[in-house]
Amino acid sequence: MEKLANYINGQPTAPQSGKYLDNYNPAEGKVYSLIPDSDANDVAMAYTAAENAFATWANLPSAQRAQILSKIADLIDRDLEKLALAESIDNGKPVSLARVMDIPRASANMRFYATAAMHFASESHLTEGEAINYTLRTPIGVVGCISPWNLPLYLFTWKIAPALAVGCTVVAKPSELTPMTAFLFSQLCIEAGLPKGVLNIVHGLGPKVGQAIVEHPKITAISFTGGTVTGKTIAATAAPMFKKLSLELGGKNPNLVFADCDFEKAISTSIRSSFSNQGEICLCGSRILVERGIYEKFVNEFVAKTKQLKVGDPQDNTTNLGALVSEAHMKKVLSYIELAKQEGGKILVGGSQAKVFGRCENGYFVEPTVIVGLNHTCRTNQEEIFGPVVTIIPFDDENEGVMMANSTPYGLAATIWTENLSRAHRVAQQVKSGIIWINCWLLRDLRTPFGGMKQSGVGREGGWEAMKFFTEAKNVCVKI
Ligand code: NAD
Repeated sequence: MEKLANYINGQPTAPQSGKYLDNYNPAEGKVYSLIPDSDANDVAMAYTAAENAFATWANLPSAQRAQILSKIADLIDRDLEKLALAESIDNGKPVSLARVMDIPRASANMRFYATAAMHFASESHLTEGEAINYTLRTPIGVVGCISPWNLPLYLFTWKIAPALAVGCTVVAKPSELTPMTAFLFSQLCIEAGLPKGVLNIVHGLGPKVGQAIVEHPKITAISFTGGTVTGKTIAATAAPMFKKLSLELGGKNPNLVFADCDFEKAISTSIRSSFSNQGEICLCGSRILVERGIYEKFVNEFVAKTKQLKVGDPQDNTTNLGALVSEAHMKKVLSYIELAKQEGGKILVGGSQAKVFGRCENGYFVEPTVIVGLNHTCRTNQEEIFGPVVTIIPFDDENEGVMMANSTPYGLAATIWTENLSRAHRVAQQVKSGIIWINCWLLRDLRTPFGGMKQSGVGREGGWEAMKFFTEAKNVCVKI
């Protein structure tokens, strides 16, 4: 069985403990590779490599850093099919999705920040008649990047690319549930000539490897994407050391549909924003709030379209929903469907584990599920489920819709469907989410600030925000 390796000091490296963890193919429900069960010793080794590499990498002209990062992007493009298949096998998502979303976005992340490295500039402030201030931005040092399983290579590169672009060196940890593409990525880094120690990838469990990265006294900043509960642990661990933190956490995103929307577009995009990647995207709109005038029509049409979705073998190009990432996650999602029933919800479609025959008969599939009849305050409508499960809730007017949209502890993303221009802008201002889409969903410009309010996170990624996060600003005041 294939054994994955850590990537430390430019080399594939076995864990010092010699121990490995099972890595599952969730569509088949069976182990297909082994990943290093690393610990604090491996993190310490990765840190030393990153520290030794720091001065040279930070002082390299940005154009040279850009060249290497662009080369990695080119290699991702070259290996598109191989990486898409690997992502699909590791995560359970349809290969057709990985081919058009995950892997192209991973190379776009690398290329975007490669070019950004050459455009990054800092401010100057003239104090009239007295002084000129200029801001120096220098890479903060060795940083930790910890990423989740839902968009494995996509979110892994989204963190490490800006860190590397500004001249930081990195100790990174992909999710233990989906380590494969980060492992393949390490091979591409070697091929691209990334100097040793600049990027180090340590595989293993969150409470062991992730915690060791956060606890390491000399890792100066942590960029984390994952669940809100983990985010709290990280914040509590990092706070006494005054580490810089960027936390991208969970969501319970409202999809607000007004009666004056373009109905067909609202329906077809809402199907995507509900069930893409089996609903395992932090930006999915899991609470569909519909103005009462079109509620019944919307529910009927949405349910009809949901019934057309095919749950199946992720390697079949006609599959819409693949497997959930793990048995534990599947059970969690199914438990929320049970909770919804206990809370009085009515399941209009789905509601059970999906059976896929043949190769995938032991896989972790869940039917796309639509639930109505629940109050916006119940647990089903307040807690993140992170699966192919949505609720539809009617509202009477704009104020009520906004109130419901803002009624959870989360504030990551929101979608607004209306053809009324004033309403679109008004509601966008009132909804407490870091990302608002009007008449679209998941339309991303990598320059824009990305992140959540309330318990959906701290800080922003994207564009200059991420570059600033990984640098330390220093003001120099010159008397004139
Ligand atoms: P998770 O919090 O369980 O794990 C995320 C990463 O943190 C993994 O690599 C894990 O090993 C590691 N980890 C776990 N415990 C740790 C600890 N104590 N210290 C350091 N690292 C630790 O999240 P997940 O289940 O992998 O991902 C799903 C969650 O991620 C959902 O809540 C989803 O909303 C969120 N998410 C958010 C965004 C965003 O941009 N806001 C994007 C994708 C996913």
